[in-house]
Amino acid sequence: MSGQKSFEILQKIFSPKNPEDIKNIKGYTMKYGHIMDGEEIVDEVLVSYFKEPNSYTTENMCEINSHGGNIIVKKILELCLKNGAELAEAGEFTKRAFLNGRIDLVQAESVIDLINSKSQREAKTGVEQLEGKLSSKIKEIKQEILDTLVNIEVSIDYPEYDVPETDNLQTAQMLESVSQKLIKLENSFDNGKIIKNGIKTAIIGKPNAGKSSLLNAILNENRAIVTEYEGTTRDTIEEMVNIGGIPINLIDTAGIRDTEDYVEKIGISKSKKMAEDADLIIAIFDSSKELEKEDLGILEIIKNKKSIILLNKIDLENKISENEERLKSASKNILKISALNKTGLEELEEKITELFNLNEINLNDDLIVTNIRHKNLITQAIKNAGDAKKALDEKMPLDIVTIFIKNIISCMDEITGEVATEEIINEIFSKFCLGK
Ligand code: GDP
Repeated sequence: MSGQKSFEILQKIFSPKNPEDIKNIKGYTMKYGHIMDGEEIVDEVLVSYFKEPNSYTTENMCEINSHGGNIIVKKILELCLKNGAELAEAGEFTKRAFLNGRIDLVQAESVIDLINSKSQREAKTGVEQLEGKLSSKIKEIKQEILDTLVNIEVSIDYPEYDVPETDNLQTAQMLESVSQKLIKLENSFDNGKIIKNGIKTAIIGKPNAGKSSLLNAILNENRAIVTEYEGTTRDTIEEMVNIGGIPINLIDTAGIRDTEDYVEKIGISKSKKMAEDADLIIAIFDSSKELEKEDLGILEIIKNKKSIILLNKIDLENKISENEERLKSASKNILKISALNKTGLEELEEKITELFNLNEINLNDDLIVTNIRHKNLITQAIKNAGDAKKALDEKMPLDIVTIFIKNIISCMDEITGEVATEEIINEIFSKFCLGK
């Protein structure tokens, strides 16, 4: 429970072993006792006390630790509600922490990212943002703008004094410096996207090339059904693996081939679509057979995409050479593997790491923007910095220049939530789960 009345409500339902006046109970302490429904004991519990302003929400808070289980927890919840508490909305605790000024919007958003993180690297970015790493960068940029803006405003307020050229120079320099910082943040989003969403990897190949076997070999478990019949993988199977702390989404597509079968047709168009959307395509070929028409179609799909060609089944007699021109013209990355014997998988991991500079992402401790809302506002800010620079170069009146400069500040404020609208705030917190 959080809020003014939380201790008062608690008192009505909690009977501590050693009762004490709430005034004398220190924050960050626990008390042992019973939750009571009138005379009836509901559960034996520990209650933690947090006193304002030193709590998650900055309000008076208490947490009841019961033995758990559906019935007991529901009963305790009902007792709280009956005695004056209201059910929290999704994300309400974090929302209060934000509205009460303990954390900014970036930090609140990082709480969701942290909870939802799928890899260690993503969790690390979440923690960094919760600790305020991105927020302080944004504030630093804002301060840099404000320092210059003060001078410009003076010039506007006292037009009788000529604006010294040095002021314009200072403004231009500020815009340049701010743009560079913002562009660096904007560029980090590509890595941020990878950290957050993983590398979308489509595995394509004609039926029986060994797609499911590859997936299984990578996952080391039998999630996909390996079969000797053609085209059983009618829909797609998605799995997530971690390479160097980065999530890789592997999508096994239906075999690409000409077919009259309706269900398979859906699968095939899905394969092509999937390949279009993917960050990486792994095209797999059965090297124990000559290249066929369908293989050539696959080579066509991967042209101009980030791709890796796998010549599978190297344990069998080889009918396709890695020096084959048709392969080389479709992709620079050709590896030989045996999905069955699990050979060549390490080289595949190394290749993916190399293609996406994953080592760099891991070592690089730079700030990373992972949130599309932040990224869009940064892009907007960069545009305004450009417009301000242009207005300055074209010797437009200073109040026009300041409009663009103030827009940059608005973008920064919207990121941290200083001026975010209620609509935006509600949308952000609606993504939270209950009790957070
Ligand atoms: P998919 O239709 O592309 O998903 O192909 P599967 O993974 O179902 O494999 C088709 C057949 O090829 C199965 O019988 C697999 O056991 C076999 N297979 C897959 N990889 C290899 C390999 O590296 N060597 C050999 N000899 N057989 C393989």
